[in-house]
Amino acid sequence: TERTLVLIKPDGVKRNLVGDIISRIERKGLSIVALELKTASDEVARGHYAEHEGKPFYPSLLEFITSGPLVAMVLEGHRAVAAFRQIAGGTDPVEKAVPGTIRGDYALETQYNIVHGSDSPESAEREIALWFPGLAG
Ligand code: ATP
Repeated sequence: TERTLVLIKPDGVKRNLVGDIISRIERKGLSIVALELKTASDEVARGHYAEHEGKPFYPSLLEFITSGPLVAMVLEGHRAVAAFRQIAGGTDPVEKAVPGTIRGDYALETQYNIVHGSDSPESAEREIALWFPGLAG
């Protein structure tokens, strides 16, 4: 079994998509082992997106991710990292994500692509430690 860190970003919360996204996660068979609604601090946002520092979209990405409440969760299940990325769809919600995925169904712009999911088990453990310090390990 494997864990992944998922965010329903502020755009997903504002658009009232939390219930729909949680339903998709549950129908897929993934288990929610931690869940919190909160507004990300600048420090957590910088830690989360450290790999993008210096890119042209980085400042606006930080502003967006801290702009309002988001839902952070830890999911667990067989191949959880890949399973969530499958139901999320590709990063660009029009060019990459297909209909039937979260991004393919609900998003138009790459920055406002509704959800985040860890891209590897190693990233997942790093991100879980960042968002849920009590759950590390
Ligand atoms: P993750 O799900 O791990 O965030 P990802 O494949 O969705 O990965 P990354 O390439 O890691 O996306 O980029 C992180 C986030 O930064 C994206 O989800 C999106 O919100 C934003 N982003 C990425 N590329 C761009 C871009 N060219 N313009 C604007 N925002 C971007």
